[in-house]
Amino acid sequence: AGNHFFDQIRARAPSPDKAFIETSDGRVITYGGMLRRSSELAHALVKLGAKPGDRVAMQTEKCTDALMLYIACIRAGAALLPLNTAYTIPELEYFFGDAKPSLIVCAPGAEGDISKIAGDARVATLSADGGTLCDAIPENAADFTPVPRGPDDLACILYTSGTTGRSKGAMLTHENLASNARVLAETWHFSPDDVLIHALPIFHIHGLFVATNVILFAGASMLFYEKFDPAQIIAAMQRATVLMGVPTFYVRLLGHKGLTEDATAKMRLFVSGSAPLLPETFHAFKERTGHAILERYGMTETGMNTSNPYDGERIAETVGLPLTGTEVRIAEPDSGKILPAGEIGVIEVRGPNIFKGYWNMPEKTASEFRTDGFFITGDLGMIDERGYVRILGRGKDLVISGGFNVYPKEVESEIDSIEGVVESAVIGVPHPDFGEGVTAVVVRAPSSTVDESKIVSLLESRLAKFKQPKKIVFVDELPRNTMGKVQKAVLREQYRGIYT
Ligand code: ATP
Ligand code: MG
Repeated sequence: AGNHFFDQIRARAPSPDKAFIETSDGRVITYGGMLRRSSELAHALVKLGAKPGDRVAMQTEKCTDALMLYIACIRAGAALLPLNTAYTIPELEYFFGDAKPSLIVCAPGAEGDISKIAGDARVATLSADGGTLCDAIPENAADFTPVPRGPDDLACILYTSGTTGRSKGAMLTHENLASNARVLAETWHFSPDDVLIHALPIFHIHGLFVATNVILFAGASMLFYEKFDPAQIIAAMQRATVLMGVPTFYVRLLGHKGLTEDATAKMRLFVSGSAPLLPETFHAFKERTGHAILERYGMTETGMNTSNPYDGERIAETVGLPLTGTEVRIAEPDSGKILPAGEIGVIEVRGPNIFKGYWNMPEKTASEFRTDGFFITGDLGMIDERGYVRILGRGKDLVISGGFNVYPKEVESEIDSIEGVVESAVIGVPHPDFGEGVTAVVVRAPSSTVDESKIVSLLESRLAKFKQPKKIVFVDELPRNTMGKVQKAVLREQYRGIYT
């Protein structure tokens, strides 16, 4: 028996001396180097007592060995547990208590604090300069016989971003990862000639799996940046072909005058996901560079579900069509009744990309699946006549005012189209008469004088009365997490007293 995911990585690896990763300081890891280093680290995992089926937690800086540790875990049959570098000790305590890793790999500076909360787990360190994980590599570690794993075996426990509540551990299998990598590489026309600009974190599905696995499956290369710096990324476009980013990347690129048609002439594709891309951003980017950003939709639990087409029309404010092998439908949230095109409901998905369930949460898992195997994403949306999926926000962010459903996205789109408005977030805040009062949190352009009464009067003719904000507040910026997601729960908390 083979190792389902690793065997595919190995079978697809191009010649050993081809570059897999080039770091910002010019170091190159070839495909041969990747196979060797992941073997060495797999031996180190064994040496440190990580057995097949164990969880290996990783909270480290973004470095090539961290990615090699991911591949090493696949080879050793352990499940990787990547953790956001921003998590604090009390947060880590929750993750360790929940996932019970047998080994925790952390930054050298964090070893002392983490050891205190590690329980029975061993602690090793890793950074770009090495660490005790690397010190544990035994002699003659250049090859490692992969531990047998089938398609349904666990490859990883990836925690959700915690945007709507406490993070949940999504159990992803070998075939979840492999099927999504295969389909995306094909859908987005990846070839060995591609060079991806990788400036995303590697503790999230986007940077860890979408970006890395597509490159591995295509036998292509990537330029690896620890963080997103617009000038550096624009310079990299001279040697690259594809950028995968979150919407804030594109906003920041547009804020840089180096972003021009010439600067992007060698690029063939710009992908956006993880949070909604504003139509203003899509159009401004098109205008400035000639490129239509390709927006796609996915989540930790599902990998990618839909994508705007590579060849066909890419439509702003849509996340495109279902990927090959993935079914998407819209249902009435409570009854589960399937709704026709054009109607709004909860987005449900089924396919080889859908996770096995939430770690340690059998009831939660059971309640998020329909009996026919569709996963209830919790995102509200609709499918238009052409089959394009539109996301209208999360079910948890739906505002119910005076008994009427208000979809925040619809109100935000109207506000965002007003001259002088940069962006907005519409939330429901407890209201004595309406249950929830529609409330808009708005960011103005620096020089703009647009005010509450102006926005209110413009919305009067555009939105039904019950959708119009009862109050508009202005802020310098919206609270976002590391993936660029607007944290509406934070806003709801902040403004909870304004009507009472
Ligand atoms: P949690 O589940 O813990 O509340 P989260 O849902 O933010 O956190 P992720 O799995 O990282 O955690 O994010 C998935 C969500 O991101 C989707 O359910 C969807 O709401 C949003 N999303 C992803 N891509 C897009 C997109 N292109 N447009 C709009 N929303 C998107
Ligand atoms: Mg979620």
